[in-house]
Amino acid sequence: MIREAALSLGFDACGIAKADELTEDAAFLRSWLEDEMHGEMSYLARNFEKRTDPRVLVPGCKSIVVVLMNYYPLKKQLDSAPKIAKYAYSQVDYHTVLKAKLNELEKQICEVYGSESVCSDYQHLFVDSAPVLERRWAERAGLGWIGKHKQLIHPDVGSYCFIGILMLNIETDYDSPIRPRCGSCTRCIDACPTKALTNGKLDARRCISYLTIENKNEIPAEFHSQLSNCALGCDICADACPWNHKWAKPHLHPELKAVEELFSWDRETWESLSKESFDQTFRHSAIKRAGYNKLKQNIKITGKKD
Ligand code: SF4
Ligand code: SF4
Repeated sequence: MIREAALSLGFDACGIAKADELTEDAAFLRSWLEDEMHGEMSYLARNFEKRTDPRVLVPGCKSIVVVLMNYYPLKKQLDSAPKIAKYAYSQVDYHTVLKAKLNELEKQICEVYGSESVCSDYQHLFVDSAPVLERRWAERAGLGWIGKHKQLIHPDVGSYCFIGILMLNIETDYDSPIRPRCGSCTRCIDACPTKALTNGKLDARRCISYLTIENKNEIPAEFHSQLSNCALGCDICADACPWNHKWAKPHLHPELKAVEELFSWDRETWESLSKESFDQTFRHSAIKRAGYNKLKQNIKITGKKD
């Protein structure tokens, strides 16, 4: 019932995994943190046990329901425009969209399995908002594999998907993981302009997504010429992936309708964007989270001539 309900609510895929400790991920995360590849994202070092074992995060958790929502857009920005990552195109912040749908899914599950099927004393519904290894759970729930660019690839949808998580305190039937299908391909690694993908790890300190969003300091000068016109986030490795060439199709979700200005603004318009216009145009959008000043700084750097 759970998978059917998720699909009828408009999610593109749904799978369920048994809640367990992620021992291999714990070892990987520990070594990644020791290498300080998380940069200033100190929150990634906190709540280690909760991050690697959902039963610590949500007492009584037995099952992880994972949903995917395709966000691959129909339209593209003008070539001259500073690039905004595709996840941020929608008028309404994707967190709001997914949480509303997950709340409805939880309601329907509780109607069938009873209100004790979720832990009402703890947050148990997550969209990018808690110490949860969403991509690993999606993989365990049979929704694809984690590619060499560290993103989830669904074999029928590609990697431009939001991931939502609902933790349940009941057992159910579980999905089986599928085998990774990257093979000998290295296109994402080769395409990365900052060489952020090395030795099977993503060095966030070199990743344009981190540098243009989470990093609150000046972007180090060594990266200025490598930003490849990315002003907020980066889709370069995902765009290079043959699975996206093959399977990514424009989404049909009215809730993820894009901010139309994204497709008509050229570089000059972005460079002259006022705070008032930014606040008005992106008032409900994920772009607003980055902040006006950060975005303007990034735009300026992408426009620098060597
Ligand atoms: S998002 Fe961009 S910078 Fe980060 S790993 Fe992918 S290609 Fe490299
Ligand atoms: S580009 Fe190739 S190696 Fe990278 S995630 Fe896609 S299939 Fe895997």
